[in-house]
Parts: sequence; structure tokens; C-alpha cells
Amino acid sequence: MMHNNKLVEVARFFSSSDAHILRALLEVEDIKVEIFDEQFSSLNPVDSVISGGIKLMILNSDILKAEPIIQRYYDNLKIEAGNICPECGSLDVKNDYVRRFTGVCYATFGALLGTGFQRATPQYKKCNKCGYEW
Ligand SMILES: [Zn+2]
Repeated sequence: MMHNNKLVEVARFFSSSDAHILRALLEVEDIKVEIFDEQFSSLNPVDSVISGGIKLMILNSDILKAEPIIQRYYDNLKIEAGNICPECGSLDVKNDYVRRFTGVCYATFGALLGTGFQRATPQYKKCNKCGYEW
């Protein structure tokens, strides 16, 4: 049996402002939103991790209406972070943090030794759809 008036968790945040951005996006579409553990999490960022973060909950009956809004919210975060393939526009992008760290090391030592900042392959992002690296 389906309970349409039951609250379900749809997202978790460690930052109160992020939770309220998604809350506003959902409320604009007449979706009732409840936020839990916000006060506890605002005391100290570490407490936020201990409590499992700030929970954003909606009514079970609003799930289908909310899904595309939540998906769009997360897609926009990826686009803002530059995680969109410039070749095919896919958001399925892998960040290679080892490569990035190596690049930072090259730049730091290059600056300290006066040999310059250049590195042969500065790419550290790869598209999982078309394989493009940048
Ligand atoms: Zn691509």
C-alpha cells in the first residue's frame, strides 16, 4: 500500500545555503518541503557530518514532480564546476585528481626552481561518453 502523505528524504547537504536553494526551487513548483537537522548542523561543520547532514524531505506524492527539478539542480552544479564535456556536452565527466595534483606539484617546483610552470599534459578531466580529455 502506498502512503502518499509520508515524508521521504530526497537530498542531503552539509551546507544550509545549498539546502535552501533546492528548497526554493521545489517550493516554486508548489512542492511542500521540510528541512531536518539544520540547527544542529549549523553549530559546527563537523557536527553536520556527525548528524548525517541536513535532510531535505518532501511528501511521497510529490516525488515524480520533484525528480526532474532535483536532477536539474545537480546537473547545474556539475556545469558550474566545469564538469561538462566541451566536445559533446555530456555531464558524465571523470576528474583525475592524481593528474591534477601532479600538475600542481610541477607548477610549484617549477616556480621554486625557476624552470617555469609548463607541463606536457595538463588535462585532468575526461568525458566518459566520447573520451575527450581537457
Ligand atoms: Zn564528451
